[in-house]
Amino acid sequence: MPDIIQLLPDHVANQIAAGEVVQRPASVVKELMENAIDAEATSIKLIVREAGKSLIQVIDNGKGMSQTDARLSFERHATSKIKKAEDLFNLHTKGFRGEALASIAAIAHVELRTKQDDQQLGSCLKIEGSTLISQENISTPTGTSVAVKNLFYNIPARRNFLKSNTIETRHIVNEFQRVALAHPNIAFSFYHNENEVYNLSMGNLRQRIVAILGKKTNEKLVPIHEITDLVEIKGFVTKPEFAKKKRDEQFFFVNDRFIKNAYLNHAVSSAFENLLSGGHYPTYFLYLTVPTNSIDINIHPTKTEIKFDDEKTLYAILRSAVKHSLGQYNVAPILDFDRDATLDTPYNLKGTNSSNPRVIVNRDFNPFKSEDQKSIQFPYKREKNMEWESLYNGLDTANIDFKSETSVDSGLFSEEKQNSKTYQVHKKYIVSSIKSGIVYINQHLAHQRILYEEFLENITVKDAMSQQLLFPLELSFNKADIVLIKEIKDDLESIGFLFGEILNDTIIVMGMPVNIVESQITPIIEQLLEDIKNDIPDTNFSHVDLMAKSLSKSLAIKTGTKLDLKEQEDIVNKLFLCKQPDSSPFGKRTFITVNIDEIDKKFNN
Ligand code: ADP
Ligand code: MG
Repeated sequence: MPDIIQLLPDHVANQIAAGEVVQRPASVVKELMENAIDAEATSIKLIVREAGKSLIQVIDNGKGMSQTDARLSFERHATSKIKKAEDLFNLHTKGFRGEALASIAAIAHVELRTKQDDQQLGSCLKIEGSTLISQENISTPTGTSVAVKNLFYNIPARRNFLKSNTIETRHIVNEFQRVALAHPNIAFSFYHNENEVYNLSMGNLRQRIVAILGKKTNEKLVPIHEITDLVEIKGFVTKPEFAKKKRDEQFFFVNDRFIKNAYLNHAVSSAFENLLSGGHYPTYFLYLTVPTNSIDINIHPTKTEIKFDDEKTLYAILRSAVKHSLGQYNVAPILDFDRDATLDTPYNLKGTNSSNPRVIVNRDFNPFKSEDQKSIQFPYKREKNMEWESLYNGLDTANIDFKSETSVDSGLFSEEKQNSKTYQVHKKYIVSSIKSGIVYINQHLAHQRILYEEFLENITVKDAMSQQLLFPLELSFNKADIVLIKEIKDDLESIGFLFGEILNDTIIVMGMPVNIVESQITPIIEQLLEDIKNDIPDTNFSHVDLMAKSLSKSLAIKTGTKLDLKEQEDIVNKLFLCKQPDSSPFGKRTFITVNIDEIDKKFNN
């Protein structure tokens, strides 16, 4: 038998390694920006086109590379940052594996321009798929520029796997923010499709945070500073009353490196114990400095997780440092501990009429208008003018002859329908008797389904009604969120929002959908942004479905809301006019039926 084992050619090995290093455009952004920081740059510029799919370029004014180093930098395991294994325990640089440039060059078209301060001429290298295309001397400013074009051009499967531009841009913005927050002493700028997203001058930490997250952040910050033998903790948390329903403004840095650590996050959250209402999370920017030999950065390839020697003690120190600062800045007394938690639900916002959820009545909506569509999407047998109860045909409930005055054509919402057959149980379920037994409807999930289909209809079929605001509303968001809002603006307008100017960190809302109240605008938009960031599994899906889902989640009547008879009926009737009444937009059952036989059985044993 012949020998069959052979060494993989370098370019193949590089492509395989690239799979680990470069998951998406944002990974390239991270590696290039970190290289610029390691090169001691004081000014770093990021230029991105098409969410990084066509171009990612990082230009720095760092120390540059010699001609030989420029060529070597693309070799695998070529690094200037460690020489021996022990150096791993004394890392002061971001990189050390020496594989980023090699990996990136294996799966893209790369152009490197670099010059050291003491050189007259610099070098320009072009590499495509690990192959050196050209190397020449050029005149170029001191520092380095790496342009990465057509990422994954030679791995179509990976390229097709990339998500929508909105999502990939979001990842890039996150990466940029993390690096920029870790290094306030470096100036950063960021351009996307020729638009300036950020232009951050050197400053202190507070200035950097404010520059990234918007000027209103300033008044919210509570400083933290604690020095112990084990760790120095610096940074800020935001006052509890500014806690958000989203978790995306939680940043830990260890030795200037962004990390994720659920355990430390818990330490901070527990310091806020009793200061936050349910579903709210503290915002924090915490910088831990620990001896380099007390951590192991090597445990995760993309290096956002690290292992500490003495995590328990760290937990205790962190928790007490945060508690101490919250106390010292006297933020506790201004909190209203008696606040009724239900006031946090959109239907019960302070200052709004809390007992009457507004169920949208769309009298024009005719669920039967598209017969073809119906037969595919609606599993139950349907006829014109049928009663909703008969929709149970096809369920295992036989012989339903239950009659109701309510029919599609005779006014579902007729005021005179007094002999209602619905009850509300535990402010959670709507119960009704049907011939075959009993139906239990989950009010929250059912309303989600109703709203979801209404929003979808509004977005896809026609423009929704909009109510003009008497006084346009000015809302501030951080710049990254503004980028996102711009992308979904059209969809938002199709469901009834109306926007005026969208500035750097503010948007002007001129109108809103008829079925929401003004105080709901901010939470709704925040939730929507959060949902988009948290991402949709389907790749290049438009936001339409996600938006409808998010809005229905935000606006659906909550469990715990008392409903009067008319509201109960509205939900029942509208639910069974839905195309898919049996499940919520998130796939949960909206109702169950209990057969009379089953009830009988319970009495007979
Ligand atoms: P690592 O950062 O792990 O060393 P990279 O593949 O990212 O590996 O980079 C390889 C080497 O190229 C670095 O060690 C450094 O010497 C050099 N290099 C990369 N980017 C720059 C830059 N922007 N400025 C100067 N030198 C750089
Ligand atoms: Mg590197």
